[in-house]
Amino acid sequence: MAEFDFDVIVIGSGPGGYVAAIRAAQLGLKTACVESRDTLGGTCLNVGCIPSKALLHGSELFEEANDGTLAKFGVKIPAPELDLVAMQGEKATAVKELTGGIAFLFKKNKVTWLKGMGAFIDKHTVQVGDSQHTAKNVVIATGSSVTPLPGVTVDNDGGVIVDSTGALALDRVPQKMVVIGGGVIGLELGSVWRRLGAQVTVVEFLDQLLPGMDGTVRKEAAKIFKKQGMELKLSTKVTGASVDGGKATLTLEPAAGGEAETIEADCVLVAIGRRPNTEGLNLDAIGLATNQRGQIETDHEFRTKIDSVWAVGDVIPGPMLAHKAEDEGIAVAENIAGETGIVNHAVIPSVVYTMPEIAGVGLTEEAAKEAGHTVKVGNFPMMANSRAKTNRDTEGFVKIIADAETDRVLGAWVVASLAGTMIAQIAQAMEFGATSEDIAYTCHAHPTHSEAIKEAAMAVRGLPIHI
Ligand code: FAD
Ligand code: NAD
Repeated sequence: MAEFDFDVIVIGSGPGGYVAAIRAAQLGLKTACVESRDTLGGTCLNVGCIPSKALLHGSELFEEANDGTLAKFGVKIPAPELDLVAMQGEKATAVKELTGGIAFLFKKNKVTWLKGMGAFIDKHTVQVGDSQHTAKNVVIATGSSVTPLPGVTVDNDGGVIVDSTGALALDRVPQKMVVIGGGVIGLELGSVWRRLGAQVTVVEFLDQLLPGMDGTVRKEAAKIFKKQGMELKLSTKVTGASVDGGKATLTLEPAAGGEAETIEADCVLVAIGRRPNTEGLNLDAIGLATNQRGQIETDHEFRTKIDSVWAVGDVIPGPMLAHKAEDEGIAVAENIAGETGIVNHAVIPSVVYTMPEIAGVGLTEEAAKEAGHTVKVGNFPMMANSRAKTNRDTEGFVKIIADAETDRVLGAWVVASLAGTMIAQIAQAMEFGATSEDIAYTCHAHPTHSEAIKEAAMAVRGLPIHI
């Protein structure tokens, strides 16, 4: 009889967990994945990346039909009507297809799905429901959940105050929506409901939106979202909430203290961040402690302090992003299999899927200077990009930050309709250690939005052609 039931048990089937399980199986390891949801794919596929992008796409089409964009290009249609049931239906179909796709990939790769909550009995034994399963290696990929706001009770079951999961499933367009938190979720889901007709106010504790992004981008984002009709209450905190008769009343105070005001809404979205899922794992049984932020610490091979227990994704430090979790999932499986799995955490792109999209990779200008670099910066406005001008989507810019001595690209920030796609080029260039000159002398197809990247790279030396 084999010493263990499995070579690897992965707990959690989000982008970190399912990818780790598939790669482990591909490498010949007998693998199981524990998942408590009814469908595979974790937060990302069920209540995160995928449903939010479906609603962003649908609401963008509605806005384009509604705001004269189609008419400007000679496509005349009667005033569009919103069929929210159909829009939500398309979202549900996409989620079903993609989560079903993971179930198919598990079968194809012979990954066993152990259905239920997983908890450690010891470092080689995981309890799932009534049964226990042993494995030589266990990977924790339990992801994250919404951070609650003290004093503000979320009710995703038709209530007035919701989190991202509730805001993805609204069956009506709110008249007045207040978003608490001007981060990625607040701006993406706030954009969805604004486009569909809600009056949206974003309350943000800090003095700018999108913490962690480049300063120029954060300022530009504030301008863009205000112009689109969002009201922004920056440097403001929510100190209380009450719900009565389908309306919420929120108490707001200046972040630095001062006079309170109240604001009413028929929908409140709480989006102040996410926290790692470790409760219920019974980490005490293996003697594994979390850090002050509740995360599981690992070394660069994704080993925890406990031999044969590994961790990846939102549950460990680093940006809470699906592609970061996926890359860590591949790397951890390769390391378990005795290969060399590496993730370059200095080059993880991030994208906000609003219109225009906002994307970045590498260092912000502020962080580059703080790290001691003397920097050269090249900027190029989308207004001067011929394809953007032709498509009438000229909002935004490309900003490339290079080291002044070596010319190596340290980071790049893009605000553009296609920023999420454009940023991949810079990520790849950075992986190859590119200089701004390397990008400037790479031939880019014309006319494309990506030419703005070449121009921004040329602007690092002060020699852009089109401005
Ligand atoms: P998760 O995807 O959170 O998966 C963990 C899984 O583990 C869950 O299914 C959970 O049920 C399961 N689990 C937890 N504990 C146990 C247990 N004890 N036993 C069994 N199962 C357990 N990121 C992007 O990169 N791009 C985006 O566009 C994007 N959009 C997002 C939109 C929203 C609204 C949200 C909320 C998040 C979004 N994210 C996005 C973030 C992204 O979803 C996460 O970074 C990603 O899902 C993390 O993957 P993971 O595998 O670490 O964990
Ligand atoms: P976030 O960290 O992006 O933003 C939270 C915001 O809330 C911050 O700006 C913070 O300053 C603010 N805040 C915190 N406490 C507050 C308070 N009491 N009052 C007012 N504002 C307050 O978090 P999020 O938007 O909830 O997203 C969670 C995670 O999900 C992020 O880490 C993000 O990476 C991930 N995500 C990614 C994408 C994407 O990649 N497109 C989309 C959605 C979510």
